[in-house]
Amino acid sequence: MLEKENNSLSQRDKNVLWHPFTQMAKAPMAIPIVRGEGTKLYDENGKVYIDAVASWWMNLHGHSHPYLCQKLMEQATTLEHVIFANFTHAPAVNLAEGLLRVLPENQARVFFSDNGSTAVEVGVKMALQYWHNKGFKNKKRIIGLHNGYHGDTFGAMSVGGRTIFNKPFEDLLFEASALNAPHANSLAEIEALYEKYGTEIAAFVFEPLVQGAGGMLMHKAEDLDAILAFCKSKNIICIADEVMTGFYRTGKFFATDWCQHKPDIFCLSKGLTAGMLPLGATTCTAEIFDAFVSKTDAYKTFLHGHSHAGNPLACAIGIASLELLLSRATQENIQRIIQSHADFIQNRLSKFTIAKNIRQTGVILAFDWNLFTEKENTYTHEFSGFIWNFFVEKGLILRPLGNTIYILPPYCISHEELESIYTAIMDFLYLTKKDFMAYIKVQENKANTGKVFI
Ligand code: PMP
Repeated sequence: MLEKENNSLSQRDKNVLWHPFTQMAKAPMAIPIVRGEGTKLYDENGKVYIDAVASWWMNLHGHSHPYLCQKLMEQATTLEHVIFANFTHAPAVNLAEGLLRVLPENQARVFFSDNGSTAVEVGVKMALQYWHNKGFKNKKRIIGLHNGYHGDTFGAMSVGGRTIFNKPFEDLLFEASALNAPHANSLAEIEALYEKYGTEIAAFVFEPLVQGAGGMLMHKAEDLDAILAFCKSKNIICIADEVMTGFYRTGKFFATDWCQHKPDIFCLSKGLTAGMLPLGATTCTAEIFDAFVSKTDAYKTFLHGHSHAGNPLACAIGIASLELLLSRATQENIQRIIQSHADFIQNRLSKFTIAKNIRQTGVILAFDWNLFTEKENTYTHEFSGFIWNFFVEKGLILRPLGNTIYILPPYCISHEELESIYTAIMDFLYLTKKDFMAYIKVQENKANTGKVFI
């Protein structure tokens, strides 16, 4: 028995692995998943979990979707990879064409990388080199949003909020300015920033409508639009990080589709391959692209690339996923989820005073569990582990962000599965401080609490 336990996947994992965003001293044993189908994940012991957060906001059509698997197999046995400088292939061209069909008309070029952070790095570097190539050597300042999150590479960290995630690197990040999340008076705020830095400002980077890792914070499209209008009037390049919000999470293809003013650069990943394979894409206007084109000046070249750029397998999945996404069935599912969340909020969730800041944008529903005072509500508090354990024991993956509980499901989630999530949330909201304190005591004895970050 002991031997079997020692040889279990979880134990072998514990011996050799280091997990993302995880305090390994306190992490519970990792759950050994052996199979996925639809919204469900199955562990080694046959326990079933509903993936209510789409595996870090990536999965669109369910796990191991048969059509995506078929396309993956076809591509794998035809061409698995080829260097993307000097060579091209149908999956990359088809996906780029497909993306340009759904992106706003001002988008003209697609640059592939391999994840969300690199998609943002590329976007920021494109904007900075655009100004450099144009001869504006002082245009180097980037504006971001407080609580923004764009990934964990140095550029992405620099333009994101200064938080627990990047604290150890604080001194090494390049200086950037930050606006508060878009609000009714954002215009005055960005005007003040412009007054101070004027033509030094190169670009504005933002997560449109929903700031994911910052706590599923939501803002109005019209407030964001006011900032975009100002940026447009001052030639500030607008970089939309749609890594999480793209692919219908907000009810439209892109979150910025809710705005009048269109970004100059889009950063995409996650839903780009329905979460099946790593891929990043950064798209830009013809004007930005043209600033890099020169027959005489090699220094104008965008000398940036990733070995896996434009991987044929990932691109083939991207095309197949686009087909599924635009199908009538998926579009109806998206509308069904949006309506279902709205009904749940109105008829049930809003009755719980302990659920604060209840909010919804598209298929994303979030609220803050307010059993404790604001002061206690931090990412590192034990209640993240408490929330995680409560739901995982019920077979639900509802990984909280601090005290923020949110649902962000794959679009194939059924009515019954949504109902089971809503019911579990209500059961959770009936818990008292006493229940929480009892949980903490048990965990202290186990020395195995799961503090959960993103
Ligand atoms: N931008 C946003 C808005 C994100 O939510 C994330 C990841 N959660 C990233 C960028 C980084 O993506 P990746 O984890 O693929 O590097």
